[in-house]
Amino acid sequence: MPKKAAIFFDRDGTLIHDAHYPSKPDDVRFMPGAREALIQLQQQGFLLFIISNQSGIGRGYITPEEAESVYRKVAADLEASGIKLGYAYYCPHSPDDNCQCRKPSPYMLMDAADKFNLEISRSFMVGDRGVDIETGKRAGCRTILLRENLIVEEQESQPDYIAADWSKIVAYIEGK
Ligand SMILES: [Mg+2]
Ligand SMILES: [Zn+2]
Repeated sequence: MPKKAAIFFDRDGTLIHDAHYPSKPDDVRFMPGAREALIQLQQQGFLLFIISNQSGIGRGYITPEEAESVYRKVAADLEASGIKLGYAYYCPHSPDDNCQCRKPSPYMLMDAADKFNLEISRSFMVGDRGVDIETGKRAGCRTILLRENLIVEEQESQPDYIAADWSKIVAYIEGK
């Protein structure tokens, strides 16, 4: 069977507004056009994966139960929109834990590639921070930075493309 390509995407600040350690379902507000874009990408045959650092758990800012309530709300809203996730990866650790999964480690992407038989070189990592871009690069994906002002700071990892919104992301991927 031919390998499938994936869209890996960050959650906070990319899929949903960044609520700074969101702890309740009411904190979930989708970014403009995000769900519409994912529906289109899904129709084009991409498998979809959330790749998220949730260090609020490891830092003790939010409980695992609070985090779970937010994951569930995101998953339910996606499902209600007809979006099927391949898997949602969450690293719950704090930076001090020195875990193997926390971005910019490519561990979560590589795990998905292995389990879902994905072709990484045809896949994309989408995120709002340099750490997301770095993660995608280490995994061997193409990388897209979602940033309204289109500015990449000098010290950040340079993405293949910078998009002001999700509709631009779809247009870019379609052109590839
Ligand atoms: Mg983010
Ligand atoms: Zn981790």
